[in-house]
Amino acid sequence: MTYYSLTDNTNTATFSEAVIRGLAPDRGLYYPGSIERLPDTFFKDLAQKSHVEIGVSVMKQFVGDAIPMDRLEEIVADTLCFDFPVVSLDNNIASLELFHGPTMAFKDVGGRFMARCIGYFNEQNPKKVTVLVATSGDTGGAVASGFLGIEGTEVVILYPKGKVSAIQELQLTTNGNNIKAVEIDGVFDDCQEMVKTAFLDDDLKKVYNLTSANSINVARWLPQSVYFFFAYQQLLKNGFNGDLVFAVPSGNFGNICAGIVAKKLGLPVHHFVASTNINDTVPRYLQTKDYQPLPSKQTISNAMDVGNPSNFIRIQNLFDNNFDALKQQFSSYAFTDDQTRAALKKLHDSYNYIADPHGAVGYLGLQHYMKEKPNTYGVFLETAHPIKFRDSVEETLGITLEIPSQIQHILDKTSEKTSLKNYADFKDYLIQRA
Ligand SMILES: *Cc1c(COP(=O)(O)O)cnc(C)c1O
Repeated sequence: MTYYSLTDNTNTATFSEAVIRGLAPDRGLYYPGSIERLPDTFFKDLAQKSHVEIGVSVMKQFVGDAIPMDRLEEIVADTLCFDFPVVSLDNNIASLELFHGPTMAFKDVGGRFMARCIGYFNEQNPKKVTVLVATSGDTGGAVASGFLGIEGTEVVILYPKGKVSAIQELQLTTNGNNIKAVEIDGVFDDCQEMVKTAFLDDDLKKVYNLTSANSINVARWLPQSVYFFFAYQQLLKNGFNGDLVFAVPSGNFGNICAGIVAKKLGLPVHHFVASTNINDTVPRYLQTKDYQPLPSKQTISNAMDVGNPSNFIRIQNLFDNNFDALKQQFSSYAFTDDQTRAALKKLHDSYNYIADPHGAVGYLGLQHYMKEKPNTYGVFLETAHPIKFRDSVEETLGITLEIPSQIQHILDKTSEKTSLKNYADFKDYLIQRA
């Protein structure tokens, strides 16, 4: 499979080059040269297939000959080592729970797959790969956990001091082994800026083999297509044959973009709903046809506080940059924190279901769409376990959440981190430990 840059399509890369570079040299996002519909035989016995069989069928065209089949099977099996249950709430609404992995957010899927691909590519290369990642919360944990113990790799996570939740900080700082956590006196954007500067720093390039694990990486983005198939498979097993709608709480729009890839691969999806918080660049675009990114605003669904969603350009490509075609299959609505809290309450009161603020935003989008189209069947993606957003969930619902085992086991681990102020400090830190 050849990938090309969405900035200049003459800049191409193999799968391994695209994974290792992250972004194309022209700063564009990589996009697959073709997306082939899966064969009818695949859909005929989909209900009987294992998650690993589905995962390999979905991923093999994107990986091409960069990884041999038997290794790809191992990587996929290792990636998909947890459950993806569809929990029915009503006769036509269900939640697809993506939080049963090690860090309890859907980002575990992309993080684990990417780490194992890099581990494989690095087997031929004695020089260790160092992954730099800036995080506002969920990403760093999933990337750290994905790379933990992967031979020939190390991860340096930068996060803004005092601006991630207590549980998120434990997920970042208690891994040990090949994972290092650095807290920065600043905000997320400062961390992001330092990572970008490091990539361009010739002194660091001499001693390090640096790569990024940003969500635009094709090895994080594409494997997210698989669980849309898992959801459909589970519905099929229950005799489903309706018009399926997926509602995806969206920030950088990578997750929903992977869902649209699943549809291109032949998954029968009637419509996609991208739900956002007040960071509403895409909902405004669909109304006005004018794409005007704004600085991000803080909300209780903070993993979606994104003012300029990086994957939206991929979604436009999936619809051949045709605005009307996009609008026919894709809607996007924005919701406030008050609406999100009301949705958390409604889900709890009506269905005895505890969602997290992101899942609640997904549910709101589904409800909005289904008011107009009541004869569809809606699945919203529950992208994180409520414990990760404990304060707002407990306060809104007036309950105390039970602590799941994935979190319990890090509570009594010791946190290890380095505190740094600025880029000069960060560079010194990297040079000294090279
Ligand atoms: C990252 C994240 C999102 C947003 O996903 P995108 O792919 O960036 O749209 C939604 N919910 C949670 C819990 C997340 O961590």
